[in-house]
Amino acid sequence: MIENVGFIGLGIMGQPMAGHLLKAGYRLWVYDVVEALLAKAVSNGATAAASPKEAAQNAEVVISMLPDSPIVEAVALGRDGVIESMPGGSIFVDMSTTSIITTQKIADALKERGIAMLDAPVSGGDVGAIEANLTIMAGGPSEAFDRVRPLFQKMGKNVTHVGGTGAGQVAKACNQIVVALTIEAVAEALVFAKKNGADPAKIREAMLGGFAHSRVLELHGQRMIDHNFEPGGKVRLHKKDTEIALSVAKEIGVFLPGASMVGQIWNSLTAMGGLDWDHSAIVKVIELLSQTEV
Ligand code: NAD
Repeated sequence: MIENVGFIGLGIMGQPMAGHLLKAGYRLWVYDVVEALLAKAVSNGATAAASPKEAAQNAEVVISMLPDSPIVEAVALGRDGVIESMPGGSIFVDMSTTSIITTQKIADALKERGIAMLDAPVSGGDVGAIEANLTIMAGGPSEAFDRVRPLFQKMGKNVTHVGGTGAGQVAKACNQIVVALTIEAVAEALVFAKKNGADPAKIREAMLGGFAHSRVLELHGQRMIDHNFEPGGKVRLHKKDTEIALSVAKEIGVFLPGASMVGQIWNSLTAMGGLDWDHSAIVKVIELLSQTEV
C-alpha cells in the first residue's frame, strides 16, 4: 500500500491535487521553485523538500504537475532529479501535459533503474482540480496503474487506463483538440449573438442542455460573458498542447485543420500579450476581428 508520496509542481492544478492527497492521509514531500507555493502546501500538512531528488527519496510514488516537457524532463532526469533518489520498485507519475516523445524518454531511463512510469494527464481545469473530479487518462504498465489508482481516485472521478506508455498523453492531445475547437466555437457563437443584438448570457443559457451543451459552454462561456480571463487554464499551456498535437500530426500524417486554425489564434493572443490569460480569451481575437465585444 502506498503511504509516502513526492509531489512536484504546486501551481493552479498541483496545489489542490496535493491537498486532496493530504486530506486522504498520505504523507507528502513537496517541491516547487516558488517558495510561497511550497509554504502553502506545508501549511496544509506537507513536508517541504529542497529539490525533486529530496521530494522523491522517501516516496513509493512521485507525482509531477509541471508546465511543460523540458521542465518535466529536467525534474525527472536532470541534476537533483527524482531519478537520483527513487528506489527500485517505485513509480513516477507525470500528470502534466507533455509530449509523447518526452514521456517515452523518461520511461526508458527510469526503467533501467527498476522504476515504473505512468503518464497520467488530466482534464477538468482548475475547477476539476479543486472539486477532485478530474478526468485522468493514464498510460503505462497495468501493475503500476493498479497501485496508483487509489491516489487517482482521490483527485479525479473518471479514471481510465488507456494503454501502454504514452497512451495517456495521446488521450490528452485528443482531449485538447476537442477543447480548443469547442472554446473557439463558443467564442464565435457569443460574438455572433452580440452582433445580432441578442444577449450573449441569454443565448448561453438557451443552449445549455441542448446539442451545443458542454462543460466549455458552461464554464468558459461564462468567463467570456464576464470578460474574466484570470487563469484557469493559461493560453501558454493550451498553445503548448496544440503544438504537441500538430507536431505529432505532421510526423505521422494526420489532417488537423481545426487545430491548426486555433494554433493561429494562440499566436494572435501571444502577440496581444495574453500568454498568461485564461484560454477562454480566444474570444478577444474573435471580438477584435468582428469589432464587437461580448
Ligand atoms: P502552473 O503554471 O499554475 O503550475 C506549474 C507549477 O510548476 C508552478 O507552481 C511552477 O512554479 C512549478 N514549476 C515550474 N518549474 C519547476 C521546476 N523546475 N521544479 C519545480 N516546480 C516547478 O500550471 P498548471 O495550470 O497547474 O498546469 C500544470 C500542468 O497541468 C500543465 O502541463 C498543464 O498543461 C496541465 N493542465 C492544466 C490545466 C489547467 O486548466 N490549468 C488543466 C489540465 C491540465
